[in-house]
Amino acid sequence: EEAGKGTTPLTPMMAQYHALRREAGSALLFYRMGDFYELFHEDAVLAAHCLGITLTRRGQQGGEDVPMCGVPVHAYEGYLAKLIRAGHSVAVCEQTEDPAEAKKRGSKALVRREIVRVVTPGTLTEDTLLDARAHNHLAAVAILPGGGAVAHTDLSTGDLFVQDAEEEAVGDLLAAIGPAEVVLKQTDGGSALEKQLGQRGVPVTPCHGSLFDSQRGERRLKEAFGTSTLDGFGSFSRAGLAALGALLGYLDLTQVEERPRFKPPIIAAPGSIMAIDQVTRASLELTAARDGGRAGSLLHAVDRTVSAGGGRLLSRWIGAPLTDRAAIKDRQDTVEWFLGERDARAAASDRLSGAPDLARALSRLELGRGGPRDLAAVRDALMAARDLADLLRSDAPPPKLLTEGARRLEAADSEGFSDLLGTLGAALKADLPLLPRDGGFIAEGFDPALDEARSLRDDARRIIARLEAGYRDRAGVKSLKIKHSRVLGYFIEVTAANAGAMMAPPLSEEFRHRQTLASAVRFTTHELAELDAKIVRAGDQALALELATFARLTGSVKARTDDLRACADALALCDVAAGLATLAEEKNHVRPVIEEGVAFEIEGGRHPVVEASLPAGARFVPNDCRLDQEGEARMLLVTGPNMAGKSTFLRQNALIAVLAQAGAFVPAASARIGIVDRLFSRVGASDDLAAGRSTFMVEMVETALILNQATDRSLVVLDEVGRGTATFDGLSIAWAALEHLHEASRCRGLFATHYHELTKLSETLPRLANVSVAVREWEGEVVFLHEVREGPADKSYGIAVARLAGLPRGVVRRAETVLRRLEREREAPEDLPLFAAAPAPHAEPEPDPLRGLLTGVDPDAMSPREAHDLLYRLTDIV
Ligand code: ADP
Repeated sequence: EEAGKGTTPLTPMMAQYHALRREAGSALLFYRMGDFYELFHEDAVLAAHCLGITLTRRGQQGGEDVPMCGVPVHAYEGYLAKLIRAGHSVAVCEQTEDPAEAKKRGSKALVRREIVRVVTPGTLTEDTLLDARAHNHLAAVAILPGGGAVAHTDLSTGDLFVQDAEEEAVGDLLAAIGPAEVVLKQTDGGSALEKQLGQRGVPVTPCHGSLFDSQRGERRLKEAFGTSTLDGFGSFSRAGLAALGALLGYLDLTQVEERPRFKPPIIAAPGSIMAIDQVTRASLELTAARDGGRAGSLLHAVDRTVSAGGGRLLSRWIGAPLTDRAAIKDRQDTVEWFLGERDARAAASDRLSGAPDLARALSRLELGRGGPRDLAAVRDALMAARDLADLLRSDAPPPKLLTEGARRLEAADSEGFSDLLGTLGAALKADLPLLPRDGGFIAEGFDPALDEARSLRDDARRIIARLEAGYRDRAGVKSLKIKHSRVLGYFIEVTAANAGAMMAPPLSEEFRHRQTLASAVRFTTHELAELDAKIVRAGDQALALELATFARLTGSVKARTDDLRACADALALCDVAAGLATLAEEKNHVRPVIEEGVAFEIEGGRHPVVEASLPAGARFVPNDCRLDQEGEARMLLVTGPNMAGKSTFLRQNALIAVLAQAGAFVPAASARIGIVDRLFSRVGASDDLAAGRSTFMVEMVETALILNQATDRSLVVLDEVGRGTATFDGLSIAWAALEHLHEASRCRGLFATHYHELTKLSETLPRLANVSVAVREWEGEVVFLHEVREGPADKSYGIAVARLAGLPRGVVRRAETVLRRLEREREAPEDLPLFAAAPAPHAEPEPDPLRGLLTGVDPDAMSPREAHDLLYRLTDIV
């Protein structure tokens, strides 16, 4: 062990450790020693703290103790998960040769060790480390002078996407992807993007700039797909090549042992999916609720999938609605088919709910991390696929996507899966261990050599079982037992009291002493040792044969990776389509008519999440929404008191657009929607007010974004623009923003407001109409009808509500007077021309006795007595 001063040379082992440590970079190093992964130095301190395990030490270095901690190999996944969740990466270093081999080089020779994998949040494949229903995306961002690009992949599906994006749009694109890890270029002090992602809790891995070289990226791609040109994939921008190259390069760095295999990269054309910026995404709670969980999100409310793969696909559909009418129609057709074929749907769901996660099993086999259970998953998924393909052969011929899917389920275009299925079926036992090296997973009768090795072993075991009785007689010890342990193998055990006779001649000639414990003494015999050796040899041989078979089976699965992935995709598609059909039936959703143009006509629309969360007995009130008029886009200004249902109405129409373009049916009596290219929503941002964000600036930045980006095909849903500032500023900004959206953007829009003055705008803006959410006073209570009606709200409701809440009569009366006066003052904006900078709110006010009394009062200079007097005079006036 290292001792003494800093100049003391390291032991060979520590020298090896430090070399590997350098290689691991910023990742923690799991250094394999026997049955443990050990961590040293800072890694050990950090891991011990994070994992709550004991920190010990091993020897010294430079006169200091070397801190150490370790996790057992058989249970490492739980520890790994904890470290990854805490934002660390882990380099796993294994012994990559048999210790016996090392010994041949000399008695002190060190076992060779290598880093076989770097585990990072975006490159996980283990079921125990992953959320089955969520994608695990790894993204890479490249920003070049001419523009940026984002590439991303999910290792479990092998999908590879790349999309160009302006630097400012990268954040939104990443929000749409929802990556588990983002690889970006290391910069001094960290880029703005890095900080932004950090704030959103996305793990960021800054990497050296050379990883983002576009020429190198091009070479990497060609290598990965074995092509001499990339022309067959489409045309990549330089930034796109850089991002894809960085992604592949990063996987090279982290997946040291095996490279994943990818499907050809898909170049996502900007505009092929509905653009939804990150604030809109959060505000509408599409795939995650505000608290980050699934419950409360649109996805959660509409998810009737039964398999993990289906759950992941649905989350992709909802998170990225399409803009291509034909593609949307194809999806709708699958839902409609399942809606009609109720038996097929029930059978499909039934079959899929038991089916294993084929995509993830494949990714593990592909990356050399698979086990016997993954082979069984392939087998079982293929059986499910065969049954499903049968189900799709129905009287009503399935639509395009399902017909394609059926073909993939059977891989009908090649020799089909029957060979593979037959082999796996015959090869695997019923109960399977997790790891190949645990052995015992190949079924009897599959491999004659294996059967022979096993029977040798079993014969020897049977002989040993018979030996026990003979030894008892000979030793005259009734309690003598033959036992087995991993370390000693087979041995004979007697209690300490019985040991004496056996250790003396003549018995000692046959029974050789092996070990003395506190209460027992252990022996062996020549015969037993030979049998034991035979069992070990046969066992080793059997394991070697099993591992060889495992490798062969894995090889035949990998040879079919592309077909199997297509099959997994088809299983997921069936699950999503059947699930959406179930939802449509259960919740009375209809198939929306998707059109070009700006149609938006929802009859009897409902909010899927609010409706699902209403207390028993409460009924959701359906509402119509029409945002087009004679082929032109229209905007609605929604007024009504708090809690009337304004933001619910706004959101539900945005959600209906999302569902419709995702290919789902929608919660309405009927719906006609012209493709929405971009969706903007700022609803319910008041939560952010509570979170203490500097609201006005944030709000204005967001409003600016909408005004600059909305097109005549966009849908804009805004709640209370301008509420973050003093009344007149806010009102004027809201006023000008509405005019701009109406005149310049010409988008479809829904706006909720408290500024009653805005309702006047409908007189000057021809395509703006007022609607309001109705309330009624009934037997002294305000009844929220949640009904959207034509025309502006009756503005006195606020005061009615205040009266009902028990405000003193005098205050209510005074409030009515003030209101009337304010209204007179603010009628002025009516006369403003369009695009006026700010409404001038001043008509000459009536002389105000209150104001008269209060002008010139200096509260700090008043005596209590004077203040008291003033109060009396004020109450007289009121
Ligand atoms: P506002 O935005 O006007 O303050 P919300 O849209 O937040 O009001 O609605 C308040 C509550 O009223 C919702 O949480 C919901 O429980 C209920 N609600 C809203 N719209 C409806 C409706 N159409 N049918 C039934 N209940 C509704």
